[in-house]
Order: sequence, then structure tokens, then C-alpha cells
Amino acid sequence: MKKYLAPALFLAVFETVAVSLWLAKGNVFYLLNFSYIGISVALGLFLYLKSYRHARRVTQLLVGLYMLVYLGILCGENMQIEGFWYYLFSGVFEAATIHYAVAKIFGPLLFGRGWCGYACWTAMVLDLLPFKTPRQPRRNLGWLRYVTFALSLLLVAALFLLHIDGLERVMFALFLAGNLAYYAAGAALAFRFQDNRAFCKYLCPITVFLKPMSYFSLLRVTCDKTKCVSCGKCRSVCPMDVDVTDNSRKRLNGTECILCLECVKACPKKAL
Ligand code: SF4
Ligand code: SF4
Ligand code: SF4
Repeated sequence: MKKYLAPALFLAVFETVAVSLWLAKGNVFYLLNFSYIGISVALGLFLYLKSYRHARRVTQLLVGLYMLVYLGILCGENMQIEGFWYYLFSGVFEAATIHYAVAKIFGPLLFGRGWCGYACWTAMVLDLLPFKTPRQPRRNLGWLRYVTFALSLLLVAALFLLHIDGLERVMFALFLAGNLAYYAAGAALAFRFQDNRAFCKYLCPITVFLKPMSYFSLLRVTCDKTKCVSCGKCRSVCPMDVDVTDNSRKRLNGTECILCLECVKACPKKAL
């Protein structure tokens, strides 16, 4: 039973968030929302422990489709970074601000970039492309993420400064346009660099939050040096070019790890 502690722990963490927000905000939506996400994550981990090869995809689809189709398209909540700025400028701790606080700003202190591996609806689609592991060396283009980050901030600031009418409708249109732009850019970069996760590595503005916070992550893959035979298999299957055999927090591309566990599955010595 000990091995099922991880899914149980994750479920407990999400339930704590669900109940706390439900009581604090007096809105049952938070209870249902975070319970659903917690159950989806716990189910994925449970399936992984049962050696089901598509375990991560199950969670990715359950959470990604829920956030994109239900929350985004049907409920009209802009959960992209522009939605975060919108709620922040409105001075409201709701929807996207809560989502960012839990999944992308403070949550990564606990579960690193688990969001990127198991829940992001952009990566949910990009992971279907044919370049699961990068076929070209990494480029020095990470600075682009600061450009998209600044542009998203300036765009929403301009909407407020210009006193644009019908901001909610504008934010919904931005959500649809933003997602289409992300998918188009993500697919173009994936084919250009033969790497499904090129968008995550170079262009995604959310990594401006995710990378520094996940540096301190409690949950991380580490290597038992007494078992490792330096075969390099872990590195060759990693979609994010992480040097997972180095246990230091400063390891190469350490803040890129999405906890997909492909390296753990590939290690012939069970050293990870
Ligand atoms: S880096 Fe951005 S696009 Fe990629 S999985 Fe993370 S949040 Fe999604
Ligand atoms: S393969 Fe391992 S090191 Fe690479 S992203 Fe996945 S969990 Fe992290
Ligand atoms: S796959 Fe395992 S044994 Fe091979 S280098 Fe990586 S950690 Fe070491």
C-alpha cells in the first residue's frame, strides 16, 4: 500500500485547497473544481504505478480539456496569462488569479512544473506531434519568453488604460485568439526544431513564473549515483534536455523538468 501514498498525498493537497477556497470564498465551484483536478492527478499517478503507459496522457486530457473547453469556452473564463493580468488589474482574487497562484506561482514550490507535464492544454495538443524527444540541439532562444511575457502584460494594461468597453467580451475573444496563436506557434516551432516542446522552451510566457519557482521544488527526480552506470538513456528520452543524473539544483536545464518520468521509465538500473 505504501506505493499508493503519492496519489493519496496529491489528492489530500488538492482537497485541502478545494475545501479552504470553498469556505473562504463561499463558492462551491472551488470545491468541485479543485476536487476534480485532484482526482484527475491522483488517477494519473495511480495508473502510472500500475505501469499503464498512457497514464500521464489521461491526466493531461482530463485536466486540459476541462480547462480549455469547460472553463475557457463554455464558462468564458480566460485562464491564459492575459486573464491573470486582467483579474490582477481588476483587484479580484478569482478564477485566473487563483489558478495562477496554485498551479504556476506557489504550487511549483511543491510540485515543480507538474502543470506542464500533466495539465497544460497547450502541451496536451503539442505532445501529439511526432517529435517526442528533441531531434536537434537546443537553441539559445529562451529570451523570447520575456518578449511574450511583456507583450501580454502591455496588451492588458493598454485595455485598462484606454478604458475599452465590454472588457469581458474582449477577454473572451483574446482567449480564443490567444489559444489559436499558441497552437499555431507551437506547431510551427515543433516542426522547425523537430521538438514537440520547443514552444515550452523558447516562447511560453508562463515559464517566467514557472522556472524560478520550480528551482526550489520539493518534488524532483534525483539520481542514485551508486546504481547509475552512465548509459545516457535518461538524457536521450528527456523531452526537456534535463541532465537528471546531476542532483544539484543547478543541473543543466533543471528548471525545465516537467516530471513526465520518461527518464525513470527508461533507466535500466532503476537509479532515478
Ligand atoms: S511551458 Fe507553457 S505551454 Fe509548455 S506546458 Fe508549460 S505552461 Fe504549457
Ligand atoms: S524525462 Fe525526466 S528529467 Fe526529463 S522532463 Fe521528464 S521527468 Fe524531467
Ligand atoms: S538511465 Fe539510469 S543508469 Fe543510465 S545514465 Fe540515466 S540514471 Fe544512469
